[in-house]
Amino acid sequence: MSIVENINSVQKEVPSHVKLVAVSKTKPNEAIEEAYRVGQRVFGENKPQELTQKWNDLPKDIEWHMIGHLQTNKVKYIAPFVSLIHSVDSPKLLAVIDKEAAKNGRVIDCLFQMHIAEEETKFGFDYADLSEFLESGALADLRNVRMVGVMGMATFTDNREQVSSEFRHLKEIFEKIKQQYFAKDAHFKEISMGMSDDYPLAIAEGSTIVRVGSAIFGGRVYSSK
Ligand SMILES: *Cc1c(COP(=O)(O)O)cnc(C)c1O
Repeated sequence: MSIVENINSVQKEVPSHVKLVAVSKTKPNEAIEEAYRVGQRVFGENKPQELTQKWNDLPKDIEWHMIGHLQTNKVKYIAPFVSLIHSVDSPKLLAVIDKEAAKNGRVIDCLFQMHIAEEETKFGFDYADLSEFLESGALADLRNVRMVGVMGMATFTDNREQVSSEFRHLKEIFEKIKQQYFAKDAHFKEISMGMSDDYPLAIAEGSTIVRVGSAIFGGRVYSSK
């Protein structure tokens, strides 16, 4: 299957109210251009340097999303152009994004990454940490970030029941946070969940953004440089 065929078949599963982020990490510019030629404009990357390089090289009407763990010292590279940061996993990172956005005269849209999987290794806020942060009122001082929702990754497992229930849990967290802290904020509306193996399950549980890589671009080969 070609990238174009893959995109077409993924698109068929994604309703028009759900945004498809084509995850192009490790893939060359030519692969992105192929997707671009059939109308794909939203791409996701997980490494700031790679993201910045691709932003430099490729058409300027592409919307670039940062989806991977972000170190505070790397925020400066992507702050001039990034459209949405999915992976805000600490108040400290959010404060740095705010500072770098201000330097660029921008307001950067962000999602709170929530820890919903069983695995210990996945980054993200627990509900308790996030509500503590939101109760503190510190967000009001961060004028150059705009929180637009939440992101999460399910456990890597064949157990579809478990994956669905983790997505359902993220949706519940979103509703609770929305009601308590963003009730009057129409921008707080996104739930980024669903990858190649589980995006139909995520959509069934209320996802508004899916992040699909290998189902579009094929498997990834990581070099060891
Ligand atoms: C790589 C990645 C994806 C896409 O994964 P696929 O299984 O290739 O679709 C989605 N979200 C995040 C955070 C990723 O790092």
